[in-house]
Formats: sequence, structure tokens, C-alpha cells
Amino acid sequence: MKVLKIDHLGIAVNSIDQGKTFWTDVLGLKFEGSETVAEQKVTTAFFPVGESEVELLESTAPDGPIAKYLEKKGEGIQHVAFRVENIEAALQELKEKGIRLIDEKPRQGAGGAKIAFLHPKSTSGVLVELCERD
Ligand code: ZN
Repeated sequence: MKVLKIDHLGIAVNSIDQGKTFWTDVLGLKFEGSETVAEQKVTTAFFPVGESEVELLESTAPDGPIAKYLEKKGEGIQHVAFRVENIEAALQELKEKGIRLIDEKPRQGAGGAKIAFLHPKSTSGVLVELCERD
């Protein structure tokens, strides 16, 4: 598999509206707009920085994965996303290497990306997202 770069850092926030002030007003990053991924019960907002992006994640439902994360750990880095060349091939290879996958098959993420998560049990506690974009 080929990992191309860190695509984005996923940061869980209670509110994108309030949370984005630091990234825009203080750090001067550009707010690229937000998008709701209904299946994941999350609204995401992207802030490009160099070759990567900051992704803020706000829950849209109390039983969603981000709501559960916030409840347990509070605001903070929730996942790290690596851009790969071919996500299906990457998942196959990781599976063969015994890495625990949360998603056996890629699903639709924000911005039309194909994404899949690896289980933190196999990654020293880091929720790793793989993503492939055109
Ligand atoms: Zn992400």
C-alpha cells in the first residue's frame, strides 16, 4: 500500500461555530464550509493547512460516534486520516497483516472521499482513518 500524506486531523468539538474561531481568527486558516454526513451523525468543517487539513467534527445526534467520544473524552483529536492511493487494496493488505478493521469496505465520507477506519487496538490507541480522493 502507498500512504501519500496526512490528509487531515479530525477534531471533535461541541460546536463548530464556537470551535472554529481559534482556527480561523487566531491561526488565520480558511473555513472551507461544512457538510453533514447523515450516516455518521456528524457535521464536518474543513480548514486547509498546507498539504493537509483540520477537520472539525460536531455531532448531530446524541447516539452518534462523535457524541459518544465527547461524552467519554471531551473535545480533542479524535482521529488521524492518511491519504492512500488505493483504499480497497490498502484494506486488503492490512487485513492480511492482521490489523483490526472497523470498516472492511470503504464508505462515503465528506467531500466525496472514500474512507475506512482502523481499530485503535491495532494502532497504539489512535483511531486511524484511511481516505482516497480523486
Ligand atoms: Zn476524517
